[in-house]
Amino acid sequence: MSFSSDIKEMLCKTPYECPGCRLSELAGFFACAGKNDDDEIRFSTTNKALEERIIKSLMQELGIVPQKVGTRLVICDKDYKKLYDEISGDVTIYECCKIAYLRGAFLGGGSVNAPDKKYHMELGVKTQRDADKLSEILKEFDFRPKETIRKDKYVIYIKESSQIAELLGYISDGRAGLEFLSIQIEKELISNVQRQANCDSANLDKLAKASSKHINAIKKIKSARKWSSLPDVLREIGELRLKHPDLSLEELGKRTSQGIGKSGVNHRLNRIVEYAETLGKD
Ligand SMILES: [Zn+2]
Repeated sequence: MSFSSDIKEMLCKTPYECPGCRLSELAGFFACAGKNDDDEIRFSTTNKALEERIIKSLMQELGIVPQKVGTRLVICDKDYKKLYDEISGDVTIYECCKIAYLRGAFLGGGSVNAPDKKYHMELGVKTQRDADKLSEILKEFDFRPKETIRKDKYVIYIKESSQIAELLGYISDGRAGLEFLSIQIEKELISNVQRQANCDSANLDKLAKASSKHINAIKKIKSARKWSSLPDVLREIGELRLKHPDLSLEELGKRTSQGIGKSGVNHRLNRIVEYAETLGKD
């Protein structure tokens, strides 16, 4: 699964702060998602949690039940006007509702790169009016969005890592921001280890390579949400490896609750790597 879809799953667990937030989130969502053809709105999502959240809001707020057609959800012309009347009004009066609007926009047409690649977060909007509204809300919260036009979309984007982390934090109750930061910190630690290895001995180089191999395996298992199924002893050594990517196996062993030796550490980390390999390709 991509980093963006992980983040979207996380966002779908965010509670609504006030009764107006649900409608604002829908307004943001439909500013980005959905196609208007022949007075029908169609939108498709492969994300189950997102689909459920949007359907629930449509039913609860507006009594609209979208029809499932293949992988798409269709809102018929009868409900089309009702939805647009509701969401084109001023639904973002309160601060919490503005944040809900941003969250809806990200859910509907947003993407973000994992911070171990280049820093980039964007929101694709259908009309200039919606693009202006999004920019305006972002600026109110002191973000500095940029704008461009790509194909038939208006794209609002942010490239500064601190702003991306902050915005993800805003729209997710903090959790998505923390996820972004923890990967960013990991990336810096690994590059530190690698830098050290380059100017030090071949041993350090070997250590850094092994360490990033372990860390990649651990990240892969975590992103597949299988981490909690590993035995305690493997999770303990895995967490220590994440926390101290530059320590030797011997030093890691000393930090385990049982104080195991170098070969024990090696054995456990190898088991983690082997398990990660059984999870298939990313
Ligand atoms: Zn609200």
